[in-house]
Amino acid sequence: MNRTRSTKTASNSPSTYNGGVTIKSPQELEAMAKAGAIVGSALTLLKCSVEPGMTTRDLDNIAYKEITRCGAKPTFKGYRGFPASICASVNEEIVHGIPGKRILREGDIIKMDVGATIDGFIGDAAVSVGVGEVTQAATDLMDATRISLEEGIKAAQPGNRIGDIGAAVQTYAEAHGYGVVREFVGHGVGRFLHEDPQVPNYGQAGKGQLLRLGMCIAIEPMLNIGDWHTRILDDHWTVVTEDGSLSAHFEHTIAITEDGPKILTVHS
Ligand code: MG
Repeated sequence: MNRTRSTKTASNSPSTYNGGVTIKSPQELEAMAKAGAIVGSALTLLKCSVEPGMTTRDLDNIAYKEITRCGAKPTFKGYRGFPASICASVNEEIVHGIPGKRILREGDIIKMDVGATIDGFIGDAAVSVGVGEVTQAATDLMDATRISLEEGIKAAQPGNRIGDIGAAVQTYAEAHGYGVVREFVGHGVGRFLHEDPQVPNYGQAGKGQLLRLGMCIAIEPMLNIGDWHTRILDDHWTVVTEDGSLSAHFEHTIAITEDGPKILTVHS
C-alpha cells in the first residue's frame, strides 16, 4: 500500500508517526523478514489463483486465510478504515482498489497489494497479474513496471540516497514511454505501515535521505501507459489513471544491508 505524497518534511509533519527514519536492530530485521516472508507466501498463492470468473473478494478471502494461517494479521484491514485484507485494483485502477463483487474477465490486469503484521512488524508488497490472455501492451507494461522495480532495488545500496532509487525507476520507465505516478510513493516500513522516508518513483540521483544499514523501505513503482496524473473514485480509496489508461504496480519491502538491498517479500 502506498503513502500519499506529502511535501511536509519529517520534522514538521503531524502525520509522522515515529519522528523520523527508523533503523532496525538485527532482532527487528528478523521480525521484518518473518513478516515479509508471509506477504511473499500470500502473493505466491494469489498469483496462481487468479483466473477469469472469480471476484476480487475471492482473492481477498484467499489472502486473509493465508495470512492468518501463518499467524499474522492483515495489516491493511482497518487501516484508516480500509475494509479488506488486500488492495485489488483492475486495469485503469492504479492502487487501493477495494475487493468486492467485481468479476475478473479474460484480458484484465489485476494488481494485488498485501500487508502482513507479525511480532509487531510489517511486510508490504504488490504484484500485477494478467487474467488469462492479455494484450501485448498490457504484458509490456507489467514487464516494464517489474523491471523498473528491480532497477530501483539495485540502486538501494547503503551509502546511496533515496533520489538514486527514484531516478533509476524513472529513467527506465520513461525510456520505455510510460508515465510514472507521482501522487503516491513508496515509504519506510517497520512497526508502522508508513514510516519515513518517502520513496518517490522519480527524482534526482544523489539527492535526498541517505540509505543507512538497518533501514527498511517499500519501493513501489506505478507505471501508466498514458499520462501520470491520477484521481480518486467516490469510494475515497480507489486511485485511477486520469486518462483511463492501463496501469501496473509492483512493490517489495527491502532491507538495506552490508551486502546491499535484501528483498524481504520474495514470492514465486
Ligand atoms: Mg507500500
